Amino acid sequence: MQNVKGLPYQDVKISNLSSFDGYQINFRINDHLYQFLVGNKKRPFPLNVMHIFKEKDICIFCNKTIYPYPAGQQICLAFQKQLPSLLNHFQTSYPNDFIA
Ligand SMILES: [Zn+2]
Repeated sequence: MQNVKGLPYQDVKISNLSSFDGYQINFRINDHLYQFLVGNKKRPFPLNVMHIFKEKDICIFCNKTIYPYPAGQQICLAFQKQLPSLLNHFQTSYPNDFIA
């Protein structure tokens, strides 16, 4: 996987979760949706990135066949290796969404 900072993120939506202390970051790359969970609002740390695919397809990053959400909700192992860079990217690009 290339540097996550250079990926063409679209439809980025950062939500302040009430169900637990953290953020949910949804984004789309091409036609594929992903969900990035971040724990701890004051000192955010990355937890995982899940595929949220609408149709069965292959993830271009981890090359796994992904089944439609919610049955096939799985961690993306390609993003998983770059979680700190990914969190840093969103914190830098959307600083106003990370105010606890
Ligand atoms: Zn993947």
